[in-house]
Amino acid sequence: MREHLELLWELQKLDLDLKAIEGERNRYPKEITKLDEKQNMEKEKIHKEREKLESLEKVRKQKEQALLAEQDKIKRSEGRMTEVKTNKEYQALLSEIETFKEAASRVEEEVLLVMDEIDELKKHLSKRDKEIIILLENAEAEKKRIQERMAEDEAVWKEKSERKATLSKQVEAKLFTLYNTLKEKRQGIGMVSVRHETCQGCFVNVPPQMFIEVQKNNCLIRCPNCNRILFWDENGEKK
Ligand SMILES: [Zn+2]
Repeated sequence: MREHLELLWELQKLDLDLKAIEGERNRYPKEITKLDEKQNMEKEKIHKEREKLESLEKVRKQKEQALLAEQDKIKRSEGRMTEVKTNKEYQALLSEIETFKEAASRVEEEVLLVMDEIDELKKHLSKRDKEIIILLENAEAEKKRIQERMAEDEAVWKEKSERKATLSKQVEAKLFTLYNTLKEKRQGIGMVSVRHETCQGCFVNVPPQMFIEVQKNNCLIRCPNCNRILFWDENGEKK
């Protein structure tokens, strides 16, 4: 019996490991998706900032053209100075030139404001470009790490599954069936160790005499509370 209990104990540990890997299998692709989304979001954000810069450059060009147009008007009016004949005409032309100059100076101010905004945005973008490169690289590295872990997990899965198949045939059939039934009913755990006179499945104390018997690992003993098969794990107790 001892040998079968030991094989079953190994099997229980394998089952828990396989269950953990299954959990990871579901988790890893989600983590990768999350990293993909994060990368795309950052790319999208910087793309929008670049678009904003482009549109500001357009505004700047428009304003500069408007400024040229105003300056042109001033020049033309000034050119007409030699043609004026009366003081009234002269005053009218002066006032016209003044109006054009005011308009030009307003546009000039607007050009300067846009240029300031462009400078700020350019500075911000050059900083963001560096940040985003690091961020994307980190996300890429993290994805690679996850993929490597996935590959490792699959290798471990294969190895443990093969060992499980072997053990399943070696453990006494009746014991194996009992284990599987318990495992299904008790959250994947059909066999538990006993430590400090306590069942490690339900954490209820086992009677002292039973504890003594369990430590021999000579016969099938089940927890009086949760019904799981009890095992004395010498290595576990030392830890
Ligand atoms: Zn128990």
